[in-house]
Amino acid sequence: MSFSSLVQDLSLRDPNAPRRRGDASVSTIDDRASRTSHISRAMSYASTAATSVSISGDISSQLHGGYAHPLARSWQAERQLTKSMLIYPLFVSDNDDEEVLIPSLPNQYRRGINRLVPFLEPLVHKGLRSVILFGVPLKPGTKDALGTAADDPEGPVIRSIRLLRQRFPQLYITVDVCLCEYTSHGHCGILRDDGSLNNQLSVDRISDVALAYAKAGAHCVAPSDMNDGRIRAIKLKLIEEGIVHRVTLMSYAAKFSGCLYGPFRDAAGSCPSFGDRKCYQLPPGGRGLARRAIVRDINEGADIIMVKPASQYLDIISDAKELGKDLPVAAYQVSGEFAMIHAAAKAGVFDLKAMAFEATEGILRAGATIIISYFVPEFLDWLST
Ligand SMILES: [Zn+2]
Repeated sequence: MSFSSLVQDLSLRDPNAPRRRGDASVSTIDDRASRTSHISRAMSYASTAATSVSISGDISSQLHGGYAHPLARSWQAERQLTKSMLIYPLFVSDNDDEEVLIPSLPNQYRRGINRLVPFLEPLVHKGLRSVILFGVPLKPGTKDALGTAADDPEGPVIRSIRLLRQRFPQLYITVDVCLCEYTSHGHCGILRDDGSLNNQLSVDRISDVALAYAKAGAHCVAPSDMNDGRIRAIKLKLIEEGIVHRVTLMSYAAKFSGCLYGPFRDAAGSCPSFGDRKCYQLPPGGRGLARRAIVRDINEGADIIMVKPASQYLDIISDAKELGKDLPVAAYQVSGEFAMIHAAAKAGVFDLKAMAFEATEGILRAGATIIISYFVPEFLDWLST
């Protein structure tokens, strides 16, 4: 035994030796192979002393063995991404034959109703379980102060609900409920003369729209408007109509204002013509406010609580899971999150697939079990391999 081997062996066995601990955590197979002769000589010397270390020393620090194998690594997660957790957003316009790429939202298209079935058929075949529909009225003169077109029986959303229910009986149809795509001013409700939101009128109107979607066959209605009291109003109308037993009510309970919705507004044509949505969407720092909104919507009858955006609000997802222990929690990985991941992957910062999984696993870890994401088509492939 040379003196250098002896020194290396002592550092191997010393849990406080910083250099060896750092080496061990980052060592690769190649590193280890190149040190084989060193270490085997050292270990032959250490064989008797190691027994005393393992008996008398602290062995709770030895974690690597628990996740050395890929399967054992996957077992560390409380929940793992499955296809049934995914909801795919679809933008459906009133131009029945169009299929138009949305420039700011990579690989995402706005489609007319005639393009839906051919697009969805292969995805359903790969295991797509759910979509969320957003209507995009493009025809001139469609928008007005009341968002009248939102529940037009001949509008793209209601026609799409009927078509998809008929063509894909196993597909779960969620429908976003809001007025901003349909109002001339682009806000998520009905306004007073001074431009502020009239909460009562907005709730009356939005609950009528939700009811129309539910009656057309939507499995789930998801109000995204953030008006106070709309969950209760929708639930009451579903009860009065006698269809509450078959319609899920998913609340965008904690929807934060911010700059991550830009590509979505390009896609949906829902940018406000004046002002912003800060009087009804939550301020990014408002954790307590988000908790109050979540509790309120649970008490008003929400079946699912949603947090939006997702990756910037993991603490809120965690809060939602804590406050709504008995409810599923959904998270919407919004257009800006999706576009950022694409942009960074394109710039060589990371691999797209690896980051898509990492971001999604973070959202699951925080407490969500439903993920609304533009990555769904890719995940259907990735989760199959
Ligand atoms: Zn809206």
